[in-house]
Amino acid sequence: MSGWAYPRIALPLGAGELAAVLWRLLTGPRADPSGAVGRFEATFAGHYRRRGAVAFCKARMAFYHVLRALDLPAGAEVVMSPLHVADYVNIIRLAGFKPVLVDLQPDGFCLDLDDLRRKTGPATGAILVTHLSGYAHDMDAIAALAAEKGAVLLEDCSQAFSASFGGRPLGSFGCAAIYSLSLLKSICTLTGGVVVSDDDRLLERLRAVQRELAPPLRGPLIAEAVKNLVIKLALLRPLFSLVVLPLLRLTATRGDRLSQFQKANKTVDLRERLPPQFLTAFSWQQALLGLGQWRSFAARESARIAAAQALYAAIPDSEEIRCPSLTPGGGNTWWLFPLLVRQPARVKAELARRGVDSAQMLLSCIPDEPAFADLGLDRCPNAKRLHERTLFVPMYHGLAPEDIRRIGEAVAACSGQSGRDASR
Ligand SMILES: *Cc1c(COP(=O)(O)O)cnc(C)c1O
Repeated sequence: MSGWAYPRIALPLGAGELAAVLWRLLTGPRADPSGAVGRFEATFAGHYRRRGAVAFCKARMAFYHVLRALDLPAGAEVVMSPLHVADYVNIIRLAGFKPVLVDLQPDGFCLDLDDLRRKTGPATGAILVTHLSGYAHDMDAIAALAAEKGAVLLEDCSQAFSASFGGRPLGSFGCAAIYSLSLLKSICTLTGGVVVSDDDRLLERLRAVQRELAPPLRGPLIAEAVKNLVIKLALLRPLFSLVVLPLLRLTATRGDRLSQFQKANKTVDLRERLPPQFLTAFSWQQALLGLGQWRSFAARESARIAAAQALYAAIPDSEEIRCPSLTPGGGNTWWLFPLLVRQPARVKAELARRGVDSAQMLLSCIPDEPAFADLGLDRCPNAKRLHERTLFVPMYHGLAPEDIRRIGEAVAACSGQSGRDASR
C-alpha cells in the first residue's frame, strides 16, 4: 500500500489542549478560580437537555455514587454487561450490591434480551445498559422490561455520546446516564466521569457527595497528560509507519505493546475497599479542558460517524470477517470500529503487513478474570467469543474518504473478498 500506515486510534485532545492543561496543572491555583466545574456540568446537561450533570474523578465513581444514592435494598442485584471495565464489579460490591452478568447477543454487542429476562426478577435493583462502541440497544424493550421488574434503569454511554434509539438520544431512557471522560472518549478530560439525570433528588444527593470529596490530585493528571503526549507522538504517521508499526509487528508474539501502554487498568483485583484516590474531586483544569472539547465536539462526532458509515458500507460480510449486528431503530454512531473476526491474530498480522494497524478489545471479559473466580459470576459464552473475535480497525474523525476506502480494501483483502456483498 502506498503512503503512510494507518494507526489504530486518534486521540481527541490536541497538542495545544494538552500543553494548556499541563501548564494549568503545574502553575495554576488549587481552588477553582472561575467556577469551571459548574460551567462544564451545565454545558454537559444542556447538551443532553437534562436537568443536571455532576462530574466525578472517574466514570466508575459516578456509577458508585449513583448506586449509593438510589435507595436500593441492601444486597440487591445489579445487572451489567460481561464485557466491561472490570472494576465495575468491585464498584457494585463496594456499594453494597451483587453483580449479575447478562450475556450478549451471539453476533452483536447488545445484551441478549432473553438472558436479561431470565436473570431479572424481584431481587434486581438496577440494570446498567452499556452501549459498546456506539451500538445502540433496543431501549424500548429494555425500559419496558425494567419497569415490569421494578428495576432502576441506568445507561453507560461512555462509548455512545451521540447515539440514539428510535430517534431519541441514548442516555435519556433511564433514571441516569454515565459518561466516561478518559482517553479516547468523545469528551476527554484526561480522566473523569459525569452523571446526567432529570431526577432532582438524585442530583442533589450527588452534589452533596461531591462537596465532601478530597481535593483533586495533580500528579496522576500530569502523568495522564504526559501519556497522551507520548501516544500522540507515537501516532504521528511518519514515525508510526517507519518505527512504531514495524516494532509492534516484530514484538507481536509477546502481545500488543501499544495496547498494554494505553490500558489504564493493567491488573484486575478483587478490591476490599475503594482506593483513597477514587474519592478525590474532578478538577477545574479538567473542566476547562472539557469546555474546550465541547466546542469541537459536533464537528468531531459528525466526521467520525460519516467515516464509520462509509467503512461499514465498504466491508463485505464473509465467513472470516463481519461487522457486529445493528439494532433496528438504533442510531449507531460507532466509537472505535469493531469487526468480528474468526482468526483475529492472523487478520491483525495481515492488516499490519498492509499498513493498517488494529487492536483487540481492551475491556475485560469479566467471567474470565481470575480475581473474580470466587464470586460465582455466570459464564457468558457469547461475550467470551465476542471478546476473542473483536478486532478494531482505524476509523476516526481525521480520516478522508480516500483513507476509509483503503482501509476497507485492506479488510476485504484479508477476508478473501474484494468487492461489496450485494446483499448488504
Ligand atoms: C472508558 C469506559 C469507562 C471508563 O471508566 P473510568 O472509570 O472513567 O475509567 C467505563 N465504561 C465504559 C463503557 C468505557 O468505555
